[in-house]
Amino acid sequence: MNQLNYFLCLMYFMLLGSYSLYAQTEPKGWCDEADLTMYRGLEEIKTSSDWFKVFMVGKDVYAIAEPYNYEEVISYLIIGTKKALLFDSGNGLGLISSVVKELTKLPVTVLNSHSHYDHIGGNHEFDSILALETEYTLYWAKNGWSHDLVKNEVAPDAFCMEKLPNLDTASYHIKPFSISTFINDGHIIDLGQRTLEVISVPGHTPDAIALLDRAHGYLWTGDTFYEATIWLFFDGTDLKAYKKSIKKLADLSASLKKLFPAHNTPVSEPIRLLELVDAFDQVMKGTKSVKETNKNGLPVYDEEAKVIYEFEHFSFLIRKDHLKN
Ligand SMILES: [Zn+2]
Repeated sequence: MNQLNYFLCLMYFMLLGSYSLYAQTEPKGWCDEADLTMYRGLEEIKTSSDWFKVFMVGKDVYAIAEPYNYEEVISYLIIGTKKALLFDSGNGLGLISSVVKELTKLPVTVLNSHSHYDHIGGNHEFDSILALETEYTLYWAKNGWSHDLVKNEVAPDAFCMEKLPNLDTASYHIKPFSISTFINDGHIIDLGQRTLEVISVPGHTPDAIALLDRAHGYLWTGDTFYEATIWLFFDGTDLKAYKKSIKKLADLSASLKKLFPAHNTPVSEPIRLLELVDAFDQVMKGTKSVKETNKNGLPVYDEEAKVIYEFEHFSFLIRKDHLKN
């Protein structure tokens, strides 16, 4: 498949995926503060932003969450004594750099868990950006995500418009950005009195990474793990690579204190990584049954193309043809 076909295909499944996933979600009012149960018990840090909600989730670690869009994406600001790292920059609906400026005066470098639109949306607001040098990363950095590819993010029932009264939904897109430094698997980021290790975890996308703070026992998992439906249906998704990657993370679990995933719940328990490996093994071995209908008896998603495997704390949404390979 040539590169253009590859990306057209990717985009098609991306749109199909996000639309159908959303269409099958129970109707939810994205302005409803009572629904924000995933932040219960966390220390909220007030900022001037109406769009982002900030929580102190670890030693000098801020979760910058976007609860008013159905993705419920979370970026993290990690502070050292000399520098700060912004791990992901959100979906580009709000101006994340203004929140970051309220939280730290240190120079900020951006690194993305992967190059999907909901994690690179604010990259263009920053000058210092680290990235892996993969074809996938370079493509999205150069091109951004056009309005057509991300318009479902700003459908009237996909987010709380009251929180973004000035947003021009008709022109919303993800802007391209310049990578300032290329890094590799194992790269160490020194923030001053705090080091972070980059761990390549291809699977969800070819450029997916996790970030490890060994001294504090923190692991940022990106979209490789979060406590909701884990999307494994893109053209860039590689299930065999995903299996290896989650094993790599699970092997760290005994040394970890907290997981920081990129969607839904900002803090999760390291034991979930063992559950993840076990659950995914069941899927790959074919011993886990597929969920075909929701609680109203309606077909789940576009069931011809994708299937969902539900477990206690998370589920997988997988393309059927990926399972055959
Ligand atoms: Zn994501």
